[in-house]
Amino acid sequence: AKGAGRNRYSYFTPALQVEALTRMRLTNDLRNAVKGGQLELYFQPIVHLKTGRIHKAEALIRWRHPTRGLVSPMDFIPLAESSGLIFDIGMWVFSESARWVQRWRSEHHPDFQISVNQSPLEFQRDDGSYLEWQRQMQDLTLSGQALVVEITEGMLLDANTTVSNKLLQLRDAGIQVALDDFGTGYSSLSYLKKFDIDYLKIDRSFTRNLAPDSSDMALSDAIIVMAHKLGLRVIAEGVETEQQRALLAEAGCDYGQGYLFSRPIPAQEFDAMLRAQQV
Ligand code: C2E
Ligand code: CA
Ligand code: CA
Ligand code: CA
Repeated sequence: AKGAGRNRYSYFTPALQVEALTRMRLTNDLRNAVKGGQLELYFQPIVHLKTGRIHKAEALIRWRHPTRGLVSPMDFIPLAESSGLIFDIGMWVFSESARWVQRWRSEHHPDFQISVNQSPLEFQRDDGSYLEWQRQMQDLTLSGQALVVEITEGMLLDANTTVSNKLLQLRDAGIQVALDDFGTGYSSLSYLKKFDIDYLKIDRSFTRNLAPDSSDMALSDAIIVMAHKLGLRVIAEGVETEQQRALLAEAGCDYGQGYLFSRPIPAQEFDAMLRAQQV
């Protein structure tokens, strides 16, 4: 019995213990970060490929930790989800984005759009958050379609009534929907005709290997043609080279996003970039 008892805990190595402690500490830090203004919103331009103009931006969150420096969302979004902080964070991301898009609509382009990411937890919880978003948009007198929500294919797959409701609520609020990381998930495609989606974002894994006559070129071509037939517009993610940009433009892709144009940058810098480019 003693041996079995020891065995039961044998997986709990010192390394794992340290990891668990680190997680606990980080979660605690994150709670303070949300309250203490350590979160920052970066923006990455989404470029209209035909004209080269910046029509949109994706909001990407950053955490400036007092001792660890900039923490990647890949590292802290999971913590935010397991601790429930994701709901406050999501609301903050929305409010900030609404403020900036109002400014960029009035100062740069009346159709400017900002897209925000939603974690499955946020999207699948029917908590009236979109009503709150709608209220904030009304307060800012934001006209329709100023904001886009990015969700992934997986979130539509177990299509229950909550999912349909949330999509309807977004529609009512005048918020558009983009399918993020397209092509990496289940790709059953049937949901494309079932749900009212506005944008497809071709995942970086396709863009990365684009070359004339490559299989990823064929796939991207097919995605673009199909999307257009269904009335959706296409954004290619992870555009890093001029060749990728040219191939995508030739294939009729509507928008591009990636390091070729700009990395995600702080809002003030993005503002300066818009001024310089006179979109
Ligand atoms: P995502 O939504 O797929 O965002 C695109 C990621 O690709 C971003 O990473 C962006 O910096 C990166 N990226 C953009 N262009 C290029 C490129 O040309 N090459 C390469 N190699 N990478 C590029 P980031 O900012 O680290 O965000 C990672 C993920 O964290 C996001 O993936 C998204 O899933 C999540 N995330 C970010 N902000 C939020 C947020 O406010 N809320 C939620 N729920 N998730 C967020
Ligand atoms: Ca995204
Ligand atoms: Ca993506
Ligand atoms: Ca992703």
